[in-house]
Amino acid sequence: MTFQIFPPLEVPETLAAGPGPGNTDARVLHAFANAGVADHMQGDVLRGMIECKHMLRNIWGTDNTYTFAVAGTGWSALDTMFSAVMPGDKVVAFTNGTFSGIDALTLRIKAATPEEHAADPLDPKAASVTVIQIPHGQPVTGKMVAAAVAEHKPKWVFMAHWETGSGRINDLRGFSDACERYGAMGLIDAVSSLGVDDFSIDDYPGVVGWASCPQKGLCCLPLTYAPVSFTDAYIETLKTTGAYTYVHNPIFEARHWGIADGQDVEKGTYHRTHSGYAVAAFHESLRLTLQEGLARRSMSYRTHEKVLRDAVTEMGCQVTSDMPSLVVLNLPPELAGREMELVQNCRAQGFGLWPTLSAPVQVRIGILNQLNREAVSQIVRLFAQALRELGADVDQDAIETLLDSRYGTSIAA
Ligand SMILES: *Cc1c(COP(=O)(O)O)cnc(C)c1O
Repeated sequence: MTFQIFPPLEVPETLAAGPGPGNTDARVLHAFANAGVADHMQGDVLRGMIECKHMLRNIWGTDNTYTFAVAGTGWSALDTMFSAVMPGDKVVAFTNGTFSGIDALTLRIKAATPEEHAADPLDPKAASVTVIQIPHGQPVTGKMVAAAVAEHKPKWVFMAHWETGSGRINDLRGFSDACERYGAMGLIDAVSSLGVDDFSIDDYPGVVGWASCPQKGLCCLPLTYAPVSFTDAYIETLKTTGAYTYVHNPIFEARHWGIADGQDVEKGTYHRTHSGYAVAAFHESLRLTLQEGLARRSMSYRTHEKVLRDAVTEMGCQVTSDMPSLVVLNLPPELAGREMELVQNCRAQGFGLWPTLSAPVQVRIGILNQLNREAVSQIVRLFAQALRELGADVDQDAIETLLDSRYGTSIAA
């Protein structure tokens, strides 16, 4: 072993133009950096957590008492949501991309028996879990959910609301209706839709558990707080079965957020060492979301996504996604097969777009917290430049004309 102290780590400023993390809002960074050193039972930290809980209920449109957030990232919230799934539980899971694929793996891990774990420890084939694979680029429809739930009669049904791997919106209404109709309990990965889409979870009574993340639609930092919400039916089930976790058991976790025995209480009690700076950042991101308003934000995403979509189409790309925060595309035919090269070139220049993480290889460009003309135009120009560097013939004048016509030409510009 050699003794070595490395120079201080400097992380550059890059343009996050992928599916997430988004560009953390300056207000959130300020709140994070300006929080004083305070422990997890200090009065303002506890008050901040309770205020976050109330703001989250507003943002998520729910009266669910068990609405709070889990320290970590999206997977932390998802692990918490899946904690009530016990070995041998009957589950139907829909996958149509990378993330719902990992969700289905998590469900197989939770539902596998000890024998099934021992037979394939990293990829247990739980007999009680039916995974229904929808091809990349296609949505999960209510019809598919109804058919599968009617056939398998599971206790739990799972789907991603927005599958960020392929950029597809799945049918939440159809999913909830099917769960209600057949008395199954719906679980939703809402990691990429919360804070972007304008929806209220109480409008989907077939869904009993929801999980999201800090760093996509909420413009907060990863490793702060990942929102979750559970209906009373979920909590009742959890109460009867228990869960194989202390830290991610929703009933235990909720106590630090001032929720005990199904009720709001004045003050949280110890569950784990929460962080004052993470609470301050999360609190500010929720204030920001409420001040902007989900209706306005969601409309703004649709407007700017349309500009980006039309601009890359003008460049000869084919868009296959329908998520308002993300464009998933095939390169022009003459550049097919060079997706990774393009993404790597861009990333080397601090332009952080992404490839798909599972087949087929496509390019993903996101606009999280980039909801203005300047930011979207910059992304469009950088992408056009990257195509040109690979030898594509991109008509910059046509692109500029498109941007002007969408955003209007101002005399100052
Ligand atoms: C990003 C994402 C995840 C994983 O979230 P992390 O914050 O990376 O843990 C899970 N599901 C979906 C749909 C996502 O978009």
